[in-house]
Amino acid sequence: MKFMNPYPTTCEHCNHKSNYPVNALLEFTSVCVKCNTAIRKTALAMHQTKREHSITMWPILFIFDALDVFDIDIDHISDEEYDNMETMDDFIILAKRIGNNTNDIEARIIDMDIIKPIKDSLEPASLAPT
Ligand SMILES: [Zn+2]
Repeated sequence: MKFMNPYPTTCEHCNHKSNYPVNALLEFTSVCVKCNTAIRKTALAMHQTKREHSITMWPILFIFDALDVFDIDIDHISDEEYDNMETMDDFIILAKRIGNNTNDIEARIIDMDIIKPIKDSLEPASLAPT
């Protein structure tokens, strides 16, 4: 996710409006050019936006990576199936139905790059649909 750079910001202390480099805002190192106080509210709001964007985008990125890893043609997934796919279990069930390369699918999902940030919290057995 990208922000306009420099980013238009209103100082929360003196209401002075100015533009600040995105990196400095995100690192909480920006200070108001007028009153010299740290700019935090805009930085916090930008982090919140980034988090919400990541949470929204992650399932879509996962599905597209997973379709590639398991060699599944997206044309074989109906719009309804796609819309109803809310968990990894839903993906696994779908992949086992239409994929032809789903051996060890749970372990292979855990090895996907997109899973690395949460890998330590997952167990292959916990993904296996019954
Ligand atoms: Zn200020």
